[in-house]
Amino acid sequence: MSLSDPVVLAQALIRCPSITPEDAGAMDVLAEALGRLGFTCHHIASATGGPSIRNLYARLGREEPNFCFAGHTDVVPVGKGWTTEPFAGDVIDGKLFGRGAADMKGGIACFVAAVARFLAKGSPKGSISLLITGDEEGPAVDGTVKVLDWLAARAETLSACIVGEPTNPRFLGEMMKIGRRGSLNCRLTVFGTQGHSAYPHLADNPIPRLLEILRRLTEQPLDEGNAHFQASTLALTTVDVGNLATNVIPAEARAGFNIRFNDLHSGASLERWVRDTVALVGGDVEVTVEISGESFLTQPGSLSDGLAQAVTAVTGHIPELSTTGGTSDARFIKNYCPVVEFGLVGQSMHKSDEHVRVADMEALTEIYLHVLDAMVGPS
Ligand SMILES: [Zn+2]
Repeated sequence: MSLSDPVVLAQALIRCPSITPEDAGAMDVLAEALGRLGFTCHHIASATGGPSIRNLYARLGREEPNFCFAGHTDVVPVGKGWTTEPFAGDVIDGKLFGRGAADMKGGIACFVAAVARFLAKGSPKGSISLLITGDEEGPAVDGTVKVLDWLAARAETLSACIVGEPTNPRFLGEMMKIGRRGSLNCRLTVFGTQGHSAYPHLADNPIPRLLEILRRLTEQPLDEGNAHFQASTLALTTVDVGNLATNVIPAEARAGFNIRFNDLHSGASLERWVRDTVALVGGDVEVTVEISGESFLTQPGSLSDGLAQAVTAVTGHIPELSTTGGTSDARFIKNYCPVVEFGLVGQSMHKSDEHVRVADMEALTEIYLHVLDAMVGPS
């Protein structure tokens, strides 16, 4: 296998049907390739969330800075509607097809190919490492977090990190991510007293109070956004009473909502606001809040500048520095070092006939090579 060609390794990875939590040999394929390039590979298994998950930390060199690439080998289920083989890795009309081609086995292969090309010129001034998890598309409790804990226990540090998620919506060079919004889920249960609808004074109807709480939560925008973030949003996801009777006032009414928030808020400040709003309406209400990620921003600086320059040098585009979209494992890595995200075009990710352009894989490999030159290249 020629490691400087990203398509070959991407095909080998796609041929492992590694639907979370299955690994299906993907981590061994990657470790074997990295071993050939001289990396020391550590397999870190974790099973706190259920089935055992395979993770990999590979490092070349012992010196600082330790420049890291992070990603995942697990993929989402195939779903329906494919006209190509999801685990064959076929190249058709200049496009590589398969589940994970974009998200994100293709990106991993591009980074490995960039390392192979880099090492053909000399050794790194510092270290190159890869932090690869098999639990990104799943619950993400036995993946990147566990590897970061393992690194911290060994007092091993990362200097800067690129996450190779497919950040470009339509064309390569369009967008990199320098932060992400946070996400909070809330469930409300409003309790009342059941009764006959002909005698409402003898009951306590929870529905008007639930509606009043939801009205107050949604009547004002959470903010207007700022220089790096779009406005925070609150989306009602469900309102449930489930009452089939026409003459009964129900005892309970429930609702749920999801808040995607920028760095003008924290999970804690929003939880406080929700609980205060509920208290103003009053009555017996159960509030359950789950914060699945805080917002974060890597201030534009040498890492984002270096990456943006590499993108422009190879593609001619000036990438937008964005914080849009869902969460990613960068939300964990940001606690350890500056982190930015840049990878392939994500247009087909999680869809049928997922694919990437082979020309984009070649360009991304060159972009990563530029970044390696800037971060750990011989001075
Ligand atoms: Zn992904």
